[in-house]
Amino acid sequence: MSEKEYLYSEIFDSIQGEGTYTGVHSLWLRFFLCNLQCNGFGQLDPKDPSTYDLPFKSFDISNISKVEDLPVWDKGCDSSYSWAKKYKHLMSQGTPAVLAKRIMDAGKNDTNPNGFFKHPISGQKSDMCFTGGEPLLLPSQEASIAILRYFEDVSNIPRSVTYETNGTINLTFDFVKFWKFKTDYELFFSISPKLFSVTGEKRGDAIIPEVISQYYKLSNRGHLKFVLGTHNNHWEEMEEVLQILRKYGINYPVYIMPVGAREEDQKDIAGEVAEMALNRGYNVSARMHVYLFGNAIGT
Ligand code: SF4
Repeated sequence: MSEKEYLYSEIFDSIQGEGTYTGVHSLWLRFFLCNLQCNGFGQLDPKDPSTYDLPFKSFDISNISKVEDLPVWDKGCDSSYSWAKKYKHLMSQGTPAVLAKRIMDAGKNDTNPNGFFKHPISGQKSDMCFTGGEPLLLPSQEASIAILRYFEDVSNIPRSVTYETNGTINLTFDFVKFWKFKTDYELFFSISPKLFSVTGEKRGDAIIPEVISQYYKLSNRGHLKFVLGTHNNHWEEMEEVLQILRKYGINYPVYIMPVGAREEDQKDIAGEVAEMALNRGYNVSARMHVYLFGNAIGT
């Protein structure tokens, strides 16, 4: 029987641009598929789908042969190409061993010819970040563990492993078993709960405290990252959700990130959102990769 292959949209070498580990050198795997759609991002009225303008749906892909040639859209999920069926033909796939080798290839350069997490010059280890789509969908949990086992077999250990998740998917028995007693590298959950007032996702589908509580029990290393604009209803909903999560004993620190995945969108409101966050006592996260590398996929 041939070994199982997993779909992904990108493997790349960059920094972590958001939250606690902003600026940390990271290798990235973006899995294909998500259980949400978040079409409300950037819309005039995120709560009313009949008003949505969704450029990823109307975009002409006839001349596009790779995801890196796609634009960053100003409305809807900024990673919609990593779950929408329309873009599936642009995805790549491979077994965990093949993906692990491609991740190491992405980390190779003149000064790090083997693509090791521990850089031969600085002696510092980089992070392995699994993102999406949703990287905790069951096939992606399975693939990520097999990829990490490969890294362990070749003695190439990251400093930490980040899952950038929407916080709605239960952890599998095998995932918990793998991580429960691991002490040589850190498990970090970057959880971005999706608010109805910002994304149009219904509360019952998008906010599942029991699930985030599982993550917290497995690793208290992580953060909650809320994407917000300046509207009061965004902030009120965020604080209502936060109260619920705190009641479940989930005490991850909170980062506020301004809506808008493009450089120009961030410039528009980032300062105002940051001030609002600081006034209320939250941490602020911009998207550092956008400031450094502009509106580009694969950074
Ligand atoms: S959870 Fe993330 S990847 Fe999935 S649709 Fe929402 S923003 Fe996009």
